[in-house]
Amino acid sequence: MPTRQCVNRLSRQLSFKSWSTISSQPRLLQQTTFNHGKRHFSVTWKCRMMETSCFTEEQLTVREAIQKICAQFPNEYWQQHDQTETDPKELHAALAADGWLGIALPEEFGGAGLGISEATMMMQTISQSGAGMAGAQSIHGNVYATQPLAKFGNKEQLQSTIPNIISGKWRVCFGVTEPNTGLDTLRLRTTATRKGDKYIITGQKIWITCAQVASKMILLARTTPLENVKKPSEGLSMFCIDIDRSNPALELKRIKKMGGRAVDANEVFFDHYEVPENTLVGEEGQGFKIILHGMNAERCLLAGEALGLGYAAVEKAAQYARERVVFGRPIGKNQAIAHPLADAYMNLEAAKLAAYHAARLYDRSRTDPTISAHAVGVACNSAKYLAAEAAFKACERAVMSHGGMGYAMEYDVERYMREIFVPRIAPISREMILNFVSEKVLELPRSY
Ligand SMILES: Cc1cc2nc3c(=O)[nH]c(=O)nc-3n(C[C@H](O)[C@H](O)[C@H](O)COP(=O)(O)OP(=O)(O)OC[C@H]3O[C@@H](n4cnc5c(N)ncnc54)[C@H](O)[C@@H]3O)c2cc1C
Repeated sequence: MPTRQCVNRLSRQLSFKSWSTISSQPRLLQQTTFNHGKRHFSVTWKCRMMETSCFTEEQLTVREAIQKICAQFPNEYWQQHDQTETDPKELHAALAADGWLGIALPEEFGGAGLGISEATMMMQTISQSGAGMAGAQSIHGNVYATQPLAKFGNKEQLQSTIPNIISGKWRVCFGVTEPNTGLDTLRLRTTATRKGDKYIITGQKIWITCAQVASKMILLARTTPLENVKKPSEGLSMFCIDIDRSNPALELKRIKKMGGRAVDANEVFFDHYEVPENTLVGEEGQGFKIILHGMNAERCLLAGEALGLGYAAVEKAAQYARERVVFGRPIGKNQAIAHPLADAYMNLEAAKLAAYHAARLYDRSRTDPTISAHAVGVACNSAKYLAAEAAFKACERAVMSHGGMGYAMEYDVERYMREIFVPRIAPISREMILNFVSEKVLELPRSY
């Protein structure tokens, strides 16, 4: 469970080298306070919007500390990195330098030992700072993809990987999606075939974020052919493999995409790519169960990231609506502008409760056997769905509230709009979440 001592340690670790940058923004200095007891709304410079009374002191401390780091990366940084498609490695380095990449990793390997509840807050704060999905995606694989590794990896695997991930030396990507099977994950075709003390990997993955900059990939591959297993969920295995870009058996092709252009997404081709047997995490054939542990964490983080972008969008739109004068009055005086923004805000607030409830369940399920995997799955999927939909609405309304300027790069909301499609599509689409809830909660017949 999250401990206050851990956060306090992290807060102390927060290298106040960033203060020199921040001191040019006296407003932030004045407004950032750790005196949470006296306020219900966050009043930090860039994360003003959002009711914070439901959060723990640990979560609020994480929020304050991450906000300070993100303040070093203004909107211009994200605009430029989006335009030039350049990896935001400085953000990754800044978070690593202060120990934040290990927020939800075990203390014995140098992590903070906090939970997904705090990690979700971290990802929301990154996104909300203006970094959006690009900033979040440059970090989140290191947080969620490492969860199954931390839980199911053996001591040797953990000792050799986790400290390097936390220090920022190695970055991690997640290799599940395949071009020919899509959301039908259990039928994925990439194989890992045992040969002596090695596995030989052959197949293709798609949309793998950060593969160009990562040193490790958490990979899901089939180790027993589909026709030889009782259920399709059997015979899959999880690996933590090196990404050796100099090896001709591995090829990466960057995908040109709509948003989050600062981070790379890739097609990955394995052609008899050899990895040592000790890259297998947990038991052979149990990979789907193992990776689910990361997938539920990922849904919570994505929910937080979507919320962050949604709040950022509403805040920008409200500011514009207060300042922009047409027909002799601020446009926000028109209810056609004000009401959709008020509605978007309330939707975000509702989705926020779902998101942090799911994260709390995920964390508590580690020690509380009365919380079933089913309950965690339903909560995490619902949270991701609700947050993505609320944030999409917020971003769309932010663009429309800006009129023509909503289409200009300078006002950022067009970047938010392009990015907010991601949590609706990935890591699981909204249609598949609706299918899941229909079948598993409402007990309706399976539709596919
Ligand atoms: C920016 C980005 C980053 C990503 N990063 C990663 C990553 O790092 N690692 C990784 O493994 N993957 C990643 N993904 C992949 C992502 O998880 C998938 O795109 C997503 O799971 C959807 O799969 P698909 O694209 O194959 O869609 P498809 O499976 O082809 O589905 C297409 C459409 O049909 C709908 N559909 C399909 N079947 C049904 C059904 N039975 N009922 C109703 N609707 C249905 C879907 O909801 C969807 O709208 C990323 C994707 C994006 C866009």
